[in-house]
This record gives sequence, C-alpha cells and structure tokens, in this order.
Amino acid sequence: LRAMLTFTGDLERAQEQLGAILSGSAETILRKGLRPEASGARIVSFEIIEDVLKLHIVSDRYLRSHSALLRLRGPLVDVVGRECSFGLRSMRIDETIIVPVDKKPLRKLKVPFAKEVVYLPDEKSVRIELENVDSSFLEDGSIDRIENLVYDKIEQQYYKGKAERRTVIWESPRKPVMFKQDPTIVLEKLGWIKQGPGLGQWFFGPQMTALFRSFETLAVQEVLKPLGFKEVICPKVTPFHVWEKTGHMAGSEPEIYYVSLPKSRDIEDWEKVIDLYKVTKKAPVKEIRRMLKDPMGGNCYAQCPPMYWALEKKVIASESLPILMFDRSGVSNRNEAGGRIGFERVNEFHRIEPVFIGTPEQVTQTKDRLLERYSLVFNDFLDLEWRYVDVMPFYLQQAGIVKTELSDRLWTGTVDFEAYMPYRGERSASEWLEFQNLSVLGDKYTKAFSIKAQKGELWSGCSGIGLERWIASFLAQHGTEQQSTWPKKLLDYLCEIPTWIRFL
Ligand code: ATP
Ligand code: ZN
Ligand code: MG
Repeated sequence: LRAMLTFTGDLERAQEQLGAILSGSAETILRKGLRPEASGARIVSFEIIEDVLKLHIVSDRYLRSHSALLRLRGPLVDVVGRECSFGLRSMRIDETIIVPVDKKPLRKLKVPFAKEVVYLPDEKSVRIELENVDSSFLEDGSIDRIENLVYDKIEQQYYKGKAERRTVIWESPRKPVMFKQDPTIVLEKLGWIKQGPGLGQWFFGPQMTALFRSFETLAVQEVLKPLGFKEVICPKVTPFHVWEKTGHMAGSEPEIYYVSLPKSRDIEDWEKVIDLYKVTKKAPVKEIRRMLKDPMGGNCYAQCPPMYWALEKKVIASESLPILMFDRSGVSNRNEAGGRIGFERVNEFHRIEPVFIGTPEQVTQTKDRLLERYSLVFNDFLDLEWRYVDVMPFYLQQAGIVKTELSDRLWTGTVDFEAYMPYRGERSASEWLEFQNLSVLGDKYTKAFSIKAQKGELWSGCSGIGLERWIASFLAQHGTEQQSTWPKKLLDYLCEIPTWIRFL
C-alpha cells in the first residue's frame, strides 16, 4: 500500500518525531494483538516532502496494510498537531491487494474502483489494483467488500445458468385433468380481461374483478385472519435507502421500475414540454427526460421492505411478539421483459404479502401454521394438484451448506408452491406455475434494520401470495365454464359474477 498523507502545512518541524514513530514505535503499534507467528504489517519506507508524508506498507493477511495505515494515522496526526499545530488535510491511497482464490476466474474480472484485476496462475491468486482511493474508503470496510466481490464473481462465473436446486418436498395426489386450455386465452375470449395499455398489464372487467376479490377474501379469511395477521397499508414507492438494507439492490436492478421526480414543480419551467406537446400531440419524451431528477427509488417490487422499515431501530416488547402483518394495498411492478406469459406473469401484479417477526420459535411456528392453512385452502377450497419445493440458491449449495429439512426446528430458506398447468403438457415434462412462496429469513432483515427483541434473537419470514397466480392455477385445472362443478367451499366465497357490456 502506498499512502499519501497531505497536511495543512509544512512538516519540517515534526520531521524528527515522525521519523521516530515510523522507524521506531510504529512496530509496537502494528504488532498489537497479533499472534507471534503472524508477521503482520511493516513500513518499508517513508518520505516527507513539504506538507506531504508518503508511506509504503507491506503486509500479510493478519494485519492488512490499510488497517495498519488506520492504526498509524492517529499517532502521526497527534505528533504533527503537537509540533506544528496543524492537521491532516487528506489521505489518498494506492493499494495492491493479493487475494488467494481456489478457482481460476473463467473470464476477466471487473470490479468497481479497481484499475485492474489480474489472475496470477502461479500464486493461485488475484491481484487487485486500487488507485487513488480516499480514507473513507478504508474506514467503511469497502476494501473488504471488494475482496468479497472478487470471490462472489468467480463463483458466479462457475454457476452462471445453473439454476437453484429445487427439491420437491411434498406433492398432492394427482387430480383428473378436467380442462386443458390456457386460462388467459379463455378469459380474453370471454371478455373478462383485456391486455392493458402498457407492457405486461391487464384490465380486469367486473367479472374478473369479482373472481379476483373472491380469491383475495379467501386468502385473508382462511389463511391470514385465523392466524391473527393484521392488515397494514404500505407505501408503494420504495426509496433506495430501504432496498439498500433489504439487499434488493444486489440483483433486482434489471427488474425495477425506477421513479424520478421532476426537477421543478414550477409550470413555467415546463413551458417547452407543454408547447411541444401542443404542437406535436406526442409526449416529448426526450424533453421530459431532461426535466427529471435522478431516480430516488422505484415502484413496489416486494411489499416487505417498508414493513421492516416501519420497525427500524425499535426494541419490541416480548408481549408484542410475534408481529404478524400483511399488505395488499397496491400493485407490484417488475420488468419481466421477455418472460411475460398470460395474466400470470406480468409487469404489474397483485400480491398479498404477510410478514411475521418473532423469536426463532415463534417464526418457525408461524411458518408451520401458514403451511397448514395454505394446504387446507389449496386442497379443500381450490382442489388443486400442487406441490411445494425447497429452493436452494446456488451460493448456498456452493458453500456446501447442508440444508435442514423444512420440518426441522429452526429451518431457514424458501419454499415455492407450484401448480400443474395441464395446458402446458405432461406433468413431468411441463413447467409448473409458481403461485406463491414462503420464506424464513432468520435474522437477515431484523439485523439489517436493527430491530431487536426485548429478549433474545429476533427472526422474520414472509410469504408472497400471488393472486393472479392463484387464479391462473385454479382456472387452468378447473376451467371457467363449469362453475357448478367448482369445489363447494370455494363457491361459498364466490361473489356473483356480474354481466358486462355487450359491445356492438
Ligand atoms: P418467478 O420465479 O415466477 O419470477 P419470483 O421468484 O420472482 O417468481 P418472488 O420474488 O418470490 O417471485 O415473489 C413472490 C410471489 O410474487 C411469487 O410466488 C408470485 O406469486 C408473485 N409474482 C412474482 N413475480 C410475478 C409476476 N411477474 N407476475 C405475477 N406474479 C408474480
Ligand atoms: Zn418479502
Ligand atoms: Mg421473478
């Protein structure tokens, strides 16, 4: 590591004391807390030119060069303060980091802030060259995160395209196939739904809306209310600072609908935009873009982030646990691009999201009870052929973590619920539709938002009830026509399907 410390004046008067630290007491400072066999960090050379102190530090992994520099900074600044009564103006660093890797990168690695990342085959290492970074970069742990990023990127290169591992945990008995059509096509023909004006949107007529509300009520009344979940209403534009904590800013970026506010609220500043429209009768998109601020966040991607945010930095009394809440107050938007199918895989969808927070035992118990209620609904109310699968992301597989069984005490992970879609083909050969999921997240989110329990650990979990997906799964198996043959228990929830316009 080569550091350049610039002070607010000439270092002449402090030269001797600085020298004494750097070639003397520095060693004690740098050895502090090190095991005898570790060599740690040492100062190779230093140089004082007017107001600048240059340092060259070399280290092993037991005390990294940048940590050594941070250790030395205090004593150096103290001496300069005492001798010359002025302080440190800035600190710039060039650092070469060698990190051992157990796999050879398959392609050239690109890492932010690094001028260069090179694989060294003989040393089985990667050399990262950082150039001209400032002290805040050292203090906030960015360098460690750069190293982790290198490891992650190498793993990703090996696992690219390899899907998560999916293990079927449970499946319902096979049900006789009664319907083999694609519900989207059928509903469009019936005039219940109409493709929306924007990408991946649908307009639901009153018939579809009646069906939709019936399913929504079913989920609330038969799953959430019996378990004691309370309804909340979450904001639907999520600022980046919330996603920074949930981790959505590490992978959801290509799917986010970004939100930008106008630079000005003054109608006069918009004169050109307005006039252009008046003349061309087209939205002057380029001109509008010029009038926008940087994005401040995005439309709802999942509903849980604001629920965690609402509890940020709170300590929860034991008697208030578990916290059980759900949101169904608005749409989620995702850029599904090429992946859109029918009304069940869309850019704008409706989901109920329950979130549960409590002791590990309470979270586990809530997961079990949710699973029970869900099973009841899918078996008795919807008479579905369905299954659930344990989803293990590749990075966990890679870490060699042996996942516990869903039935185990204190299981964490995600299960996806899938329905057989007869119109897509044979059971074993066709893709089943993921119609909802259920996750236990351990303390990942409670930690991220510093939410604490009065006593002990605090865990959380959430579940995404995709209402379009529930309906698509049900209709794909039961059809739209024979409502009289639909399960009796569902009929109790079914609102009357109204008639609608006869178009001429
Ligand atoms: P998929 O694998 O189908 O893209 P996902 O893993 O992205 O789903 P999650 O982020 O886990 O989905 O969201 C939870 C639930 O939200 C899903 O189980 C589904 O019911 C619903 N959902 C997600 N994306 C969509 C979409 N594009 N259209 C309709 N519902 C969706
Ligand atoms: Zn969630
Ligand atoms: Mg998705």
